[in-house]
Amino acid sequence: MKTAITGGAGFIGSHLVQYLLAAGDEVTALDNLSTGRLENLRDVIGHPRFHFVEGDILDRSAVDKVAVGATRVFHLAAAVGVNLIVEHPLESLRTNIHGTEVVLDSVLANGASLLLASTSEIYGKNTSDRLSEEADRILGSTLKSRWTYAAAKGIDEAFAHAYWREFGLRVAIVRLFNTVGPRQTGRYGMVVPRLVKQAIAGEPLTVYGDGKQTRCFSYVGDIVPAITGISEKTSAYGNAYNLGGSHEVSILALAERIVELLGSDSDIRFVPYQEAYADGYEDMRRRVPDNSKARELVGFDPQTTLDQIIRSVAADYRPNGKPDPVQWKGTMVAN
Ligand code: UDP
Repeated sequence: MKTAITGGAGFIGSHLVQYLLAAGDEVTALDNLSTGRLENLRDVIGHPRFHFVEGDILDRSAVDKVAVGATRVFHLAAAVGVNLIVEHPLESLRTNIHGTEVVLDSVLANGASLLLASTSEIYGKNTSDRLSEEADRILGSTLKSRWTYAAAKGIDEAFAHAYWREFGLRVAIVRLFNTVGPRQTGRYGMVVPRLVKQAIAGEPLTVYGDGKQTRCFSYVGDIVPAITGISEKTSAYGNAYNLGGSHEVSILALAERIVELLGSDSDIRFVPYQEAYADGYEDMRRRVPDNSKARELVGFDPQTTLDQIIRSVAADYRPNGKPDPVQWKGTMVAN
């Protein structure tokens, strides 16, 4: 299969590149290297079935370059990470709304199918026990940048859905809940790489607010095979699927576990939100996915434990720079 991946040099994109090359695909990655890094692709540069295009999703000719001749496109390029979104709201809106429109148009014109990466952020402040794909979205003020990100990704989904209904574009949507693993950087806010790095350096672990807010972290090795599986199901077109971890943990408990597991001497420091983030931030108290729709479609059953996730992220910070290989979960689909 000929596959194109926007955001292919990013954290999830680069793992997807490796997974699909191993499955036999010819893979072209498009990335503007703003948050993605060529370093993430060091194991595949020079691979006979891998191609890299440096370019922006706002540039139709760059997107066309990778979409022409592709059987399927994975659209992962986006402005992500709470810090980036809160500090650069305009860039985030342009990339996430207009960039996605460019990708949709190009994929439609080139006759490929599309897998759109969306986010659990779209559910906003809905703290329900299990968020199903039909759950209500509860967003805060438009004056807070965090919610404009959630709104932008919601618009992306609405665009994708409309392209499916009106033009028959074969597009499926996945909503990712706090995916974690090697190569994820803490620079844009993500909590696990930040706390792991702090624990290894012997610095205080920064827990924002009271630390009682919860998340369900998922491992990139569980997520990538599921995204791929969903992209291959015709019944997924016009549909959205949650992909998240199965274990809910508070951020304080996460910090404590990281300290214990890594044998760190670090303390835990509570940091008020006003100190941690620029204006425009508001937290979600809880975010728990209902994964049953993806389980029914592709057997999604994330088994990687929080301890395994923490260890795999910690291995990324080893001084010799040799992270553990990602363990793929589920059956590899041979193309
Ligand atoms: N967080 C924290 N310390 C940090 C970074 C983040 O306590 O150094 C908190 C953050 O306020 C949020 C949770 O960890 O409650 C998850 O943050 P992240 O940005 O990773 O993901 P998201 O908020 O998008 O779920």
